[in-house]
Amino acid sequence: MRILLNDTHYTPEKIIGVGRNYDAHIKEMHATPTGEPVLFIKPPTTLCSLSEDIVIPTRYGSVHHEVELAVLISRDGSAIDENAAMEHIGGYGLALDLTLRDMQSTAKKKGLPWAIAKGFDGACPISRHFVAKEKVADPHGLAISLRVNGETRQQGTTAQMIFRLPFLISYISRFFTLKSGDIILTGTPSGVGPLRAGDRLGLSLEAVADVETRVVAGT
Ligand code: MG
Repeated sequence: MRILLNDTHYTPEKIIGVGRNYDAHIKEMHATPTGEPVLFIKPPTTLCSLSEDIVIPTRYGSVHHEVELAVLISRDGSAIDENAAMEHIGGYGLALDLTLRDMQSTAKKKGLPWAIAKGFDGACPISRHFVAKEKVADPHGLAISLRVNGETRQQGTTAQMIFRLPFLISYISRFFTLKSGDIILTGTPSGVGPLRAGDRLGLSLEAVADVETRVVAGT
């Protein structure tokens, strides 16, 4: 899938997920803060439009919603200095970091990777149109929320992020060269939970996106 920003199309080569970036979510997962960002990769085949029906797998246990601020990289870089990091951002969007939670829990217990739990086809519904960074005064002060069938399940603000964007971009680019078009998912506030076929979702990120969509069963 291509992302549109200011009439330019971007084709992501990778999506870098940040785990455990909100305290309240760490607590609800009974996880421990790590001192450094927890990173994982979602392949580009996870991308699909957030404004179309969200197709979830039905055979592998629960699929959890994680609503997240998504950052589009518009300038290549590796070992990016924190002071220059914001210059590598093109804009902002809204994403769902869909997670096969039962499969992830089993993998964690066995000390195995989360690759399938985070990387299955369609695991990253995302805004097709991103908002230019110049139009977002402060990416660390945006209300973010998710409603399921009219009930608020996740509600937070990006001010609650433990690791902020300049540090994340600098840290990530030590290990993964960031290419124009790549996307960073910045972590989710608390309130994650299972999605079911037929659920109607309302997702909102202040100044960036306001989307209604629904969940349908896949295979
Ligand atoms: Mg997440």
